[in-house]
Amino acid sequence: MQAAVYARKSTDQGGVAEDQKSVTRQIETAKAYAARKGWTVDDRYVFLDDGISGAEFSKRPDFLRLMNALKPKPPFQVLIMSEESRLGREQLEVGYALKQIMQAGVRVFFYMEDRERTLDSPTDKIMLSLAAFADELEREKARQRVTDAMTRKARAGHVTGGAVFGYRNIEVQDQLGNRSHVDRQIVEREAEIIRHIFQRCASGQGFKAIAKELNALGAPSPRAQQGRSQSWAPSSVREVLLRDHYRGHIVYNQTRKRDRWGQHKQTARPESDWIITEKPDLRIVPEELWSAAHQRIETARAVYMKTSTGGRPAMGSPAKYLLTTLALCGRCGGPLQVSSRPHGKTGRRLFYCCSNHRERGVCSNDTFVPMDEANGSVIDVVHDALGAKVLEDAAALVIERIQDDRPADRLKHLEAELQQLDRQVTKLSRIILEQEDVDSLVKQLQETERRRKALRVDRDAIVAQSRQGSRNVGRLREDLLGLAGSWRTQVTEDVGQARAIIAAMLDGRVTFTPVEGMRRLWTVTGRTTLGSLIGKVLDPDTDWNGFLES
Ligand SMILES: [Zn+2]
Repeated sequence: MQAAVYARKSTDQGGVAEDQKSVTRQIETAKAYAARKGWTVDDRYVFLDDGISGAEFSKRPDFLRLMNALKPKPPFQVLIMSEESRLGREQLEVGYALKQIMQAGVRVFFYMEDRERTLDSPTDKIMLSLAAFADELEREKARQRVTDAMTRKARAGHVTGGAVFGYRNIEVQDQLGNRSHVDRQIVEREAEIIRHIFQRCASGQGFKAIAKELNALGAPSPRAQQGRSQSWAPSSVREVLLRDHYRGHIVYNQTRKRDRWGQHKQTARPESDWIITEKPDLRIVPEELWSAAHQRIETARAVYMKTSTGGRPAMGSPAKYLLTTLALCGRCGGPLQVSSRPHGKTGRRLFYCCSNHRERGVCSNDTFVPMDEANGSVIDVVHDALGAKVLEDAAALVIERIQDDRPADRLKHLEAELQQLDRQVTKLSRIILEQEDVDSLVKQLQETERRRKALRVDRDAIVAQSRQGSRNVGRLREDLLGLAGSWRTQVTEDVGQARAIIAAMLDGRVTFTPVEGMRRLWTVTGRTTLGSLIGKVLDPDTDWNGFLES
């Protein structure tokens, strides 16, 4: 591991041991400490401020150099100091600096106490979780650029996405041997399975039946998402049937993959944004088979719409339910899904159940966990860990961070140049009026006009972007504070937001494991990012506030 050292000898160090006052001594000791720990210290990352007061934060050149080294990615993983007071005297500023260092992923050690400085307070910890949301806002801008590049590639008919079942990606090189782009090639073994799925569908089988059949046959399946079972699910069968790629139509830009919280969530883009390229050599499913299967799907959908009232109540979007994708089956580690079942005499209730059991037939967990009780068991723990004060502080810090990156400087430069161009235009116009041979002057004026127009476009874009930015900040603040203020209401009213926060608060997933031999008893385990352990027995037959601590 690469370690950095920060040393400071100050004019105000009454309390510091005599031999630690010298900067040279501090560096020597820090280097010896690193050697004992097995870390290397590169002299480029030895930062020292000699004879400077800790109060004057901004006048310490090497401290600023250290902080600048953190972005975009620090070249060291550890920072060694004699003690915390080396960073400064003001508790608030020292805390802020430490936080920035640690947020950059650098661990901080004090050799005098042989101690690692960690983020102790709940505010600090939730701040680290929420910082991911702030980063997402920044990434949103970068994503637009990626989309532009993708669009260009798509227009050229090149591959933009990752692996698609049925094909392998082939790197294509240009004459000079450099990687030029990626193309696809049909994998015959997988293509057979795809045609099999279309035939089954055309002959009237449902997605679930097809999935179970393929799993029973041990047919190879698309690469599983992380943590999912490597087998066919009804949803992956459906995906295969709907993928235009298999009839040689490559459609780009159909969906966006994340929402503004940075949560994975596919949403459709308007059709006007789509780019369709024809690639007949990539067709796997003949047109007649494609239409036969799709006619079946349409008929089934029409029948379904006629017989059901208001769509599919239980399955809809996973983001509608608090714990889908956040909770796992304890028996197989697969995701839980939502199921609506008759309950009592009054009607139906929602449950979580193991999707590997229900959809794929590859897990033995056939129990149904009542949704309200299951949600309550997790909300309780998170609620206890996450006080309103913690959220408020965290929101303030996140917002502060976002606002650091305002494009104000660039805007100032643009405005200045624009003003100068405005003056030039006025001047040139006046000269033209007074001159006889004006050709070159007109040319100059036209050039200036062009530049002015380009700058105006830039400026408007920046202004629009920063307006968007402050809207985002305002919305983020509202969202976070709203959650802080009315946690319980929010959880029931806005599941999407509650999910985002709970996802940030959970270290990994929550596991529901049926207790052997019991139909209505589960152990719930997990951990929050604030360190609280979730360890409960979920027993819906008793009042849900009365969980037993296991
Ligand atoms: Zn399972």
